[in-house]
Amino acid sequence: MEAVQSDSPPFLVFLSGLDTKEIEQACGLGETFRAKQIYSWIAKGSPSFDAMTNLPKELRDRLGLRFGSLRSSSISTALEDEDGSLKLQIRLRDGAAVECVLLEDIEGRKTACLSSQVGCPMGCQFCRTGSLGFLRNLGPDEIMEQFYFLKEQRGFISNVVFMGMGEPLLNLEAVRKAVALLSDPEGLGMSLRKITISTSGIVPGILDLAEHGPKLRLAVSLTTADEALRSELMPVNKRWGLAELKAALMEYQSKTKERITLELVLLGDKNADQKSAEKLLGWISPLKVQVNIIPWNSVPGLPFTEPSKAQIKAFSEYLAFRGIVCVQRMHRGRGVMGACGQLGDTLMADR
Ligand code: SF4
Repeated sequence: MEAVQSDSPPFLVFLSGLDTKEIEQACGLGETFRAKQIYSWIAKGSPSFDAMTNLPKELRDRLGLRFGSLRSSSISTALEDEDGSLKLQIRLRDGAAVECVLLEDIEGRKTACLSSQVGCPMGCQFCRTGSLGFLRNLGPDEIMEQFYFLKEQRGFISNVVFMGMGEPLLNLEAVRKAVALLSDPEGLGMSLRKITISTSGIVPGILDLAEHGPKLRLAVSLTTADEALRSELMPVNKRWGLAELKAALMEYQSKTKERITLELVLLGDKNADQKSAEKLLGWISPLKVQVNIIPWNSVPGLPFTEPSKAQIKAFSEYLAFRGIVCVQRMHRGRGVMGACGQLGDTLMADR
């Protein structure tokens, strides 16, 4: 599989994806302190130029005329689950749509799950988004606006994961820019340790991150350490097999010294048995990892079964008893089709 790259439409500039220097240039300000003021308003979540009350009215009007709107996208649907999760469908400037989710855990930690592409080219068999196909990459503005919309609805957000629609390492420059804006001490100031990129296993992207950073949390959707089964479930494995993937992760770990998260979507009838757990254990060494077990969330039309509680317990215990840090991810957001692998449902309804 070749790395598909498609840029977002280049027709307009929106300030929500720019840093101070770029804002100064885009606005033709010639005064850095004004650009800093605008940047700071955007980072605070200001929805419009009119809300930037410490700018002269004349400048606000000029910016309104020049850019039309501060943001390029808008919320078209908001769905709340009983467990507190919130899924937003975001309408983009060209009419396409993506989804993002806010997940709140029992300790009150709020995690924004952001999309990086419209649809996804990776075609993972167990994923709703994968069955939709791929339309285009998102720009940094479109990624950041998902964050701002979620923040507007739910207040302070502690963590960000690029685990929504799309493969973030196939849109690495836009994702890098969004990470730079999220972590900028002059702006949102989020620690890089609170930001995770989750990849299906794009080896050149992992090596690029290892070499050039940023040094954030890396998660890999491994699903299985069985070569044939991984190729069946995740076509990416036909391009970069398990040996190449592991070599890239070793390189990443030697450069960053960070633990890597392996995401395991557990499918009741495919990879939830003891043999699969044994294979996984053999593959992991000598990587330092945390394994996140994600019981598959059923998606209408996809031919898999959810794992039973007994399967999940046995699988987790097998790894945990052998010294692997193992976390079971809760089924959060399922009531609104906002859990892992379920995004895209409302997009289908629109078609
Ligand atoms: S699991 Fe991730 S990489 Fe795979 S198809 Fe779904 S969105 Fe794409």
